[in-house]
Amino acid sequence: MRNKTIHATNFRKVLELFREERNEEAINLLKIIQEDYLDLYSENKELRSQIKEVSDILDLAECMDFDGQKYWIKEDSDVTGPYCQVCYDQEGILIRLQERDKHWECYSCENLFAKIPKGVTDKNQKPKRKTKPPLKLFSVK
Ligand SMILES: [Zn+2]
Repeated sequence: MRNKTIHATNFRKVLELFREERNEEAINLLKIIQEDYLDLYSENKELRSQIKEVSDILDLAECMDFDGQKYWIKEDSDVTGPYCQVCYDQEGILIRLQERDKHWECYSCENLFAKIPKGVTDKNQKPKRKTKPPLKLFSVK
């Protein structure tokens, strides 16, 4: 496996090779340095996009509100949702719940969330499945 870091000594070595008029060797070494640079460039680009992904998730988590059953997203004065707690906790995806007469329904995991009148909390109204795996921070390739 190729070492991904550019060897700083290679720059000096190129200079020495040119000074000793070993131009062919110097040119070959420059090609190697260029390849190393390109590798680092793409690695850097990938890391930047992963950082952006994580920071987007953190931004989102900051404006998420859990009402005991469902998630709502509050941005300034805008509130959207509700979103399915099971799908978000398990898959990290936001599925908007469909409103029915007496409950909310998730078309993805098919969990039902009873509508609770304000001020009343019913501890029996929990989603069917309740597990909480860690958040997926990076997309799977
Ligand atoms: Zn769901």
